[in-house]
Amino acid sequence: MIVEVDEPEPGPGQVVVGIGGAGACHSDLHLMREFGDGLLPWGPPFTLGHENAGWVHALGSGVIGLEIGQPVAVYGPWGCGICPRCRLGIETYCENPAGAPVPSGGGGLGLDGGMAALMLVPDARHLIPLPDGLDPVAAAPLTDAGLTPYHAVRRSWAKLVPGTTAVVIGVGGLGHLALQILRATTAARVIAVDTRPEALRLASEYGADLGVLPGETAMQQIRDATRGRGADVVLDFVGTDSTLALGATVARPLGDLTLVGIAGGSLPVSFFSVPYELSVQSTYWGSRPELIEVLDLAARGLVRAKITIFTLDQAMEAYRRMEDGTMEGRAVVVHVIA
Ligand SMILES: [Zn+2]
Ligand SMILES: [Zn+2]
Repeated sequence: MIVEVDEPEPGPGQVVVGIGGAGACHSDLHLMREFGDGLLPWGPPFTLGHENAGWVHALGSGVIGLEIGQPVAVYGPWGCGICPRCRLGIETYCENPAGAPVPSGGGGLGLDGGMAALMLVPDARHLIPLPDGLDPVAAAPLTDAGLTPYHAVRRSWAKLVPGTTAVVIGVGGLGHLALQILRATTAARVIAVDTRPEALRLASEYGADLGVLPGETAMQQIRDATRGRGADVVLDFVGTDSTLALGATVARPLGDLTLVGIAGGSLPVSFFSVPYELSVQSTYWGSRPELIEVLDLAARGLVRAKITIFTLDQAMEAYRRMEDGTMEGRAVVVHVIA
């Protein structure tokens, strides 16, 4: 629903950002459905949009180091800023959520986000100046759809030496960026898995060495492509029972199976049910330093989000297309198309 709200005013230390682009995320669909069942520590009304970039519009008192008009990306998870995790820039895991502007949330997650002309950012530390060569529309999806796979890939860097294989399950908004991040930051061979042939075509554009449809032959194709060894790292951007089962089947002993997708599936883990010493891990979003790294990769042309642009009044159409699986890459909502 689109409503008129008051223009935000920045308090001390705060910044108002004129939004250039706001990514539409699958998790927004979950938010819209899951309000009311008590899973979240906050509820509506607030403006959606937790993947944001734009230009500094107004500075609160005491903010230094930013100028009006400067292009910035917004780091999305907003913690207390004081606890050890926040001081490291890992505000996803703030240890004092009661001291945060909203517990375990941020703009578009309990507080007003970027699907608006202006967005109030409660502390200047959440703003990353954009490097030259990167505009806000291109940067916006990187703050989540880029940062999340970057964080997931980065955790497994040590296992992605030459001669290894990474499997990416689900070539959607995050998966297509994961392929490029793997290409840009590791020497691993990259295999993409998706149910949609057009997504596999996109995968090969973005550097996958092999595209595989899930199903009976997927395991054998991946085994063959890895000379029977299996994959060193599997990144599951879907997260259903069947994608997790596929991941566990194609993973190599000592490998990583990393769950990123929030479909809510589960994987029985026992001594005999998964390859020996397989690390099964979840990941969630990423840190502020990692966002700086992702933006650098993008400014240098190594990582680029495939974007479909929607105006604010078309935003619900963007969510409909995400829901029925017809969105290629990432939807970004903008106010004025340049
Ligand atoms: Zn998201
Ligand atoms: Zn904190």
